[in-house]
Amino acid sequence: MKSVSELLRVGPGPVDLSAIDPRGTPGLPGRKSDPKAWSRTALDELGPHLGDLQQRLYAEAKKTGSRRRVLLVLQAMDCGGKDGTITRVVGELNPLGLRIVGFGPPTAEELSHHFLWRIRNALPPDGYVGIFNRSHYEDVLVVRVHGLVPARTWRARYDQINRFEQGLIEDGVTLVKVMLHISYEEQGQRLLERLDDPTKYWKYNPADVNERERWAQYQQAYADALTRCSTPVAPWYVVPADRKWYRNWAVAHLLKEALEGLDLAYPEPDFDVAGERRRLLASIPHK
Ligand code: ADP
Repeated sequence: MKSVSELLRVGPGPVDLSAIDPRGTPGLPGRKSDPKAWSRTALDELGPHLGDLQQRLYAEAKKTGSRRRVLLVLQAMDCGGKDGTITRVVGELNPLGLRIVGFGPPTAEELSHHFLWRIRNALPPDGYVGIFNRSHYEDVLVVRVHGLVPARTWRARYDQINRFEQGLIEDGVTLVKVMLHISYEEQGQRLLERLDDPTKYWKYNPADVNERERWAQYQQAYADALTRCSTPVAPWYVVPADRKWYRNWAVAHLLKEALEGLDLAYPEPDFDVAGERRRLLASIPHK
């Protein structure tokens, strides 16, 4: 049976997003009468395992000086569900070993540096799981669609990103790059929901509707970024995301498979366990 990573990985070669069904559920065990409830329970059950894997990663770095860490890069069209994924999936992890960073429009200071400067500054420390809520890929997505830099500048960035990511991997980072793939219709529904519910007004940004008008340009920019930057060492995964319960289940599995691939073991004690037990017992007064 194929792993979720194998099923959702894209490339090498041209990526055609229109061929990937945003309502699909690849890898979800079949014949469930209620796949929604099933996948939610499965995710609840996966939580402690994810937490244990994360703790091993953390312990390894603390005790052995290992530089290994995991970085989940989340990209999506507006309303694609990045925030919901972080709450539901990443919420299963221990905040002590987590670094979550969101990337908005660059500040004046960030703009005065190379586009990867702010990304380097946001990398997870050794032993951590890092989450990028948007990432360096915005510099070949929104930047391209809005023509914020000349075409030759953003075109050169694909190779720069590949070299940068290769360096990260050599430095102990396991990259999990995920595009949450929603349909145009679903985005429309989710925007409408924000207008239907006063507790969601704060999420509504009129500018999102302007961006929606550029849907096709964004899809093209995504397809090109995935085609150019899905490499054997740092592949892209496209997660069908119209169904939130599948999206959460799939991202949790991508994270699980990445962590399991590290073959993490708790570090051996660097002290004499039996001797320490004797010493400690001797210090505890008998009742
Ligand atoms: P989100 O939509 O991720 O929940 P925001 O509403 O704060 O968060 O949106 C962040 C905005 O910042 C997005 O519109 C995104 O396109 C923009 N952005 C991110 N990185 C860049 C960049 N490098 N250049 C220009 N705009 C960017």
